[in-house]
Amino acid sequence: AKEPVRVLVTGAAGQIGYALVPMIARGVMLGADQPVILHMLDIPPAEEALNGVKMELVDAAFPLLKGCIFIIMWFKFQMVLLRCVVATTDVVEACTGVNIAVMVGGFPRKEGMERKDVMSKNVSIYKSQASALEQHAAPNCKVVVVANPANTNALILKEFAPSIPAKNITCLTRLDHNRALGQISEKLNVQVSDVKNVIIWGNHSSTQYPDVNHATVKTPSGEKPVRELVKDDAWLNGEFITTVQQRGAAIIKARKLSSALSAASAACDHIRDWVLGTPEGTWVSMGVYSDGSYNAPAGVIYSFPVTCGNGEWTIVQGLAIDEFSRKKLDLTGAELTEEKELAYSCLS
Ligand code: NDP
Repeated sequence: AKEPVRVLVTGAAGQIGYALVPMIARGVMLGADQPVILHMLDIPPAEEALNGVKMELVDAAFPLLKGCIFIIMWFKFQMVLLRCVVATTDVVEACTGVNIAVMVGGFPRKEGMERKDVMSKNVSIYKSQASALEQHAAPNCKVVVVANPANTNALILKEFAPSIPAKNITCLTRLDHNRALGQISEKLNVQVSDVKNVIIWGNHSSTQYPDVNHATVKTPSGEKPVRELVKDDAWLNGEFITTVQQRGAAIIKARKLSSALSAASAACDHIRDWVLGTPEGTWVSMGVYSDGSYNAPAGVIYSFPVTCGNGEWTIVQGLAIDEFSRKKLDLTGAELTEEKELAYSCLS
């Protein structure tokens, strides 16, 4: 039997957390044969709700969810406890020994709050969680940040956890990637599994650029470019892009709640492909530490097309970027540089 993998979910009592933890415990993230130990962290006001989630996890009797052993010493006596999940408000306890960290907890933007105020709250959260992960997580722990501003929160985490390799710290743009696949499949009336190689460039914000220039669809007569099949450049360069960019807001409007199910599912896809690899000939989008590929700003967390193998991602190189795309890549890059400056100004 495989050794269990420890997976941390922060903000675990929240909406995304509630959708995500059962997916992890069912093997959606790491495979149906991979036992997991869940570490759930939230803040003290959410402690009771977090305990409720823990009770439901026990009640669901997930076979993959393994208990972990805690030894309590009391004078000469020793008690061995088997705990099904770690549910805690203590960041050190939550981070200890974790192999995967999914960072969902963050300070939400409330009405009337300035961007700088939200940034400042998140900078301090991610700074302290960076230290805890650096000191207590398992070596080679892989991190994905979901909480917004996801790219910049991930950058802060990287800066304050210098001993964690930069390649191990990423942010989630897979939801945007999946949304783009979904839009193309609806437009062409094809299975979403037959559409591949869209790209989300840049920031997980409304400046992100969903790009279909290299995307293809599997047809009975082979793989065909999306542009050739859609035959509607005005839609691809207009409504398609804005629909993907603004899908989150559309779901809030319809559901009166945010898109937790699809965000949780995308977080599982992100980690699964990173750990288990992307299929041959397929790439996915991940926010990763930029080396300046495609003339994106270096030193920010920027979403690129990547392939994964042996537990590592590699940016796909050599894709042609036309003039329309260039402008969009630059715009979202400029926003990330500006966010980085704002985040640093919150530190001083
Ligand atoms: P959600 O679980 O809905 O969202 C959590 C974070 O994910 C938010 O920052 C949200 O950004 C972001 N996000 C990214 N993509 C999406 C998406 N597609 N749809 C929705 N959200 C997305 O928030 P809740 O308020 O339900 O839960 C947050 C939890 O975090 C709570 O349990 C809270 O107690 C905890 N928390 C932890 C803190 C800490 O660790 N110090 C601080 C504050 C809260 P956006 O807000 O922009 O939608």
